[in-house]
Amino acid sequence: MNKSYIDGAWVEGSSAVADLNPSDTSDCIGDFASSNKAQTNDAINAAQKISGSWRESGIHQRAEMLDRIGSEILSRKEELGTLLSREEGKVLAEGIGEVERAGHIFKFFAGEAVRIAGVSMDSVRPGVDVEVVREPIGVVGIITPWNFPIAIPAWKIAPALAFGNTVVFKPATLVPASAQSLTQIIAESGLPAGVFNLVMGSGQEVGETIVNSPLVNAISFTGSVATGREILVKTAERQARVQLEMGGKNPLIVLDDADLETAVECAINGAFYSTGQRCTASSRLIVGADIHDRFVERLIERMESLIVDHALKPGTQMGPVVDDRQFEEDLNYIEVGCSEGAEMATGGARLERDTDGYYLAPTLFIETNNAMRINQEEMFGPIASVIRAHDYEEALTVANDTDFGLSAGICTTSLKHASHFKRNSSAGMVMVNLPTAGVDYHVPFGGRRNSSFGPREQGQAAEQFYTATKTTYVNP
Ligand code: NDP
Repeated sequence: MNKSYIDGAWVEGSSAVADLNPSDTSDCIGDFASSNKAQTNDAINAAQKISGSWRESGIHQRAEMLDRIGSEILSRKEELGTLLSREEGKVLAEGIGEVERAGHIFKFFAGEAVRIAGVSMDSVRPGVDVEVVREPIGVVGIITPWNFPIAIPAWKIAPALAFGNTVVFKPATLVPASAQSLTQIIAESGLPAGVFNLVMGSGQEVGETIVNSPLVNAISFTGSVATGREILVKTAERQARVQLEMGGKNPLIVLDDADLETAVECAINGAFYSTGQRCTASSRLIVGADIHDRFVERLIERMESLIVDHALKPGTQMGPVVDDRQFEEDLNYIEVGCSEGAEMATGGARLERDTDGYYLAPTLFIETNNAMRINQEEMFGPIASVIRAHDYEEALTVANDTDFGLSAGICTTSLKHASHFKRNSSAGMVMVNLPTAGVDYHVPFGGRRNSSFGPREQGQAAEQFYTATKTTYVNP
């Protein structure tokens, strides 16, 4: 059933796209629908038509449906996690973990649906009452990337529905199977036709149609800075609400007083889990001069012991890069690093395995400086660089010297430095003795500068984007 889901019906695409397993390109998961502009408009019209009655549907009904979706996702986490790992290439434990997180997100927003509150207060004019309430914003366009094919859609779709909006969802072309499985579960939850629509297809056709439609009141997007900026300009022109989550160039500071094993494990997890394909990945390791050599030696040892193989093979610790295009981009950045004078301490080459996949050795550059392109541009692969810092102050300056500002970490046993870093890091999320990646679903997620634009995602913060306030004055 490789189709888009529009107005409560599964519809054939106008063309099809082959979905290949990046761990084994001879394994085709299926040919998935690619919809066109007309079908996208059908979905938008359906979402708009039902928008009025859905907003009146009541918080209890919405909470029940979201809870049902969350339970179904959780009960099928092995099956969905296996599909996700087969399609995207992250290892099975991460695939299942991501599905679990999606289930918890739906359950969290089931609760948020009934918790939404307003404020009632006196006016400054005696005798007049003031009420501030939150209302749905209408049709929300949701455009998502390939790297978290179930969790990112979940953390946008769940609050959109919880707060009474209708949805047109366009997943990344690389991960249609995960999007379709999630949609099947949502479709079976009892939502009225048109409230939730899945339109699979290209960014240029489906994505742009959603972004440009005057019927779409808000766009929530996660992906590259270039596409995010394009969407920002277009939505600004028509004054639509927009929320962008884009890249990162996240620093992990390792101070001389850090516990060495904690620091190395934070770097391994942050830089190489999910094959480094996370916007919160630790790509700049800023390391104190005294601990530098011990840290680098131990990190290389751990990197070289990582088992890189088929994502579904038991024991695999790092899967393949997502596709040939991303693989070429990673190799290109490795060349850039070498040409900039960085020293490649390990990795840098394609790995041959039993199956034909995009296997790249975890790669570490040392003796780098922060001005290099490999330390300024998001690489989105299993590549990290070490930058030596002489003291905490220098490490902090380097950490903040970036156009991005999503996540930043510090490994230290000094309360003084940890506290100072919490206050003075310019990132939206700060980690102390933890990897830069790995966040909770009940608290705000997002960054600053090029990393994010608009209200935060997840947790209670989500209501700021998915609702609009209305202030009412009553003279009884
Ligand atoms: P894109 O920004 O191109 O894609 C993200 C989503 O936007 C996809 O669904 C894509 O559709 C869609 N899209 C693309 N062009 C448009 C458009 N003009 N209008 C509306 N929607 C559009 O990222 P890529 O997947 O191509 O990845 C490129 C780079 O982006 C990566 O190398 C990485 O650096 C970064 N990235 C960052 C992520 C993050 O979490 N911050 C996640 C993924 C990537 P389609 O798939 O059909 O192209």
